[in-house]
Amino acid sequence: MHNLIKMLPDAIANQIAAGEVVQRPASVVKELMENSIDAGASFVQLIVKEAGKVSIQVIDDGAGMSPQDAMMCFERHATSKINKAEDLFAIRTMGFRGEALASIASVSQVELKTKREEDELGSLLRMEASVQKANEQVATPKGTSILVKNLFYNIPARRNFLKSNPVEMRHILDEFQRIALSNPHIKFSLVQNEQETYALPVEKLGKRIVDLFGKTYREQLAACEENTNYVSIKGYVGRPEYSKKTRGEQFFFVNNRFIKSSYLHHAVMSAYERLVPEGTFPFYVLFLTLDPSHIDINVHPTKTEIKFDDERSIYAILQAAIRKTLSLNHLIPSLDFDANVNFRNPSGASGAIPSFSGANSPRPVQYAWKKLYEGLNDNIEAFERQSVADPATNLFNETSTTIQSKANTWTAADSLAHSNFQVIQILNKYLVVTLSGGMLLIDQKKAYQRILFDQFSENLVKKNGVSQQLLFPQILRINPADSVLLEEILVDITDLGFALTKDLEENYWIQGVPAGIGEEDGQNLLEGILEQVKNEATDLGQNHSEKIARILANRAAIRFQSKKLISEEMSGLVEQLFASSNPSYSPNGELISRSLNEAEIGQLIG
Ligand code: ADP
Ligand code: MG
Repeated sequence: MHNLIKMLPDAIANQIAAGEVVQRPASVVKELMENSIDAGASFVQLIVKEAGKVSIQVIDDGAGMSPQDAMMCFERHATSKINKAEDLFAIRTMGFRGEALASIASVSQVELKTKREEDELGSLLRMEASVQKANEQVATPKGTSILVKNLFYNIPARRNFLKSNPVEMRHILDEFQRIALSNPHIKFSLVQNEQETYALPVEKLGKRIVDLFGKTYREQLAACEENTNYVSIKGYVGRPEYSKKTRGEQFFFVNNRFIKSSYLHHAVMSAYERLVPEGTFPFYVLFLTLDPSHIDINVHPTKTEIKFDDERSIYAILQAAIRKTLSLNHLIPSLDFDANVNFRNPSGASGAIPSFSGANSPRPVQYAWKKLYEGLNDNIEAFERQSVADPATNLFNETSTTIQSKANTWTAADSLAHSNFQVIQILNKYLVVTLSGGMLLIDQKKAYQRILFDQFSENLVKKNGVSQQLLFPQILRINPADSVLLEEILVDITDLGFALTKDLEENYWIQGVPAGIGEEDGQNLLEGILEQVKNEATDLGQNHSEKIARILANRAAIRFQSKKLISEEMSGLVEQLFASSNPSYSPNGELISRSLNEAEIGQLIG
């Protein structure tokens, strides 16, 4: 009889583990960046190509590894971070399972360069699908660089499962944001397809938030701080009337680790009760610090969930802390105890509803927002000022969340924000923008694609695309097969702002088109959308709406391919582009703009 049970070969065991740890490029980003933080880095650089599908590189100036450790780090359960079981309850570092690098190396091609301060030479290792392909000594700066190429190249099924570049990039940005938020004392850089999209200097949390999310956040933040024996809470919450219909700007960090918790979210929302409209979410970034023995973070390998030993206390303290912040900042209307508290019910019938008794009963909330926020900024600035190294520097000078052609030299968006720019059009296709530090070249069609895509995506999320009514409704001529498709995407295109009706003969009439699209284009656009949806139907699946937004943006931008623009249109386009979610790349992942600084222009001329 043969024995049937055998140990899995390491490479396969690693691949199985990888299924849990490495779901997509963003998971690699998270693991590598966390390792850099654990290694005590003061500068962490993330370089991605094609949303991480081609490569992901993280370079740090942290402790580095010895030649022996450089080999060990790809072994499963190899970790320098815990030695004994008890350590699991006192975890202060980000990683602890020692499976990330082994998992990543089992599903990609990895190049590691690392050197410790004290070593003369560093190590270079190449791994392919868990197999070591090279191990050499190299001259390399102190710290670690890990380059991960062709993720899932050896598991085609997983690779095919990856979503479009914008979607994968969004996930990467989420991870980058979380890590950058929880480490404002560390300098970060993000380079996307050769362009630096974030350059974040060492700063305070408030300014880091502004740098990451945009300068409008400067006005909407209220500092929150609460200290109890069990937990201390620190961070910022957003003004109620800035709350958004989409989620994604709510962050909890427990002992500096990002976590998701609907329970804690509920506690925050309860503090905002009656202050924000139903179905909207205020911004918040909250750091909870407590003794690690009170929490269990070993729930899931990706470690975003957490258990507290006393959930109720956390809830109550958090809710109270937010309430306090809102009222300290006058975001909760003050209660007027002297006023008459007997309300007549609307029908005019007798009897007060409810009959408040005693001085502690609040009146219904009244809203007078504008006044309530006076002095809020001073509050945030005062909070941050306590520990700013150089008081002369303006906390909130927007210098970092910008596109850059070269790190720390000159930023196009920066110059745009601070100077009057001039713009001319050439070939009816490109815009040339003159800036104090150089020039910017913009492809106008691609710029429109980005702006329209953002607009349409927002319409889809908010389900409130503004529709421009047509004076003369147009009949939509489509064949029966296409009308089935149309039915399928009807909700989305209605959300976008198309208004369609059906007559008795089952003909569709276009009554309105999304605002911002030429009226004459309704029929064309809908046909075009249907056509492309048909072609891409095989993978319409989950990103349905994003795809439709992209298709529509592409179609609607065609008319700007070659079109003379008047000067207001040009400057409007430039401004909108830089207010968009990604001024560098179109939703199709193509370069929109390129900046040239003085040195680069000099080089061109030679
Ligand atoms: P974990 O972080 O859970 O320990 P990893 O697989 O992520 O497991 O890393 C394994 C080990 O490799 C770490 O414990 C650390 O000793 C070393 N290591 C990984 N990345 C770095 C880095 N950027 N700098 C220094 N050491 C690193
Ligand atoms: Mg790790």
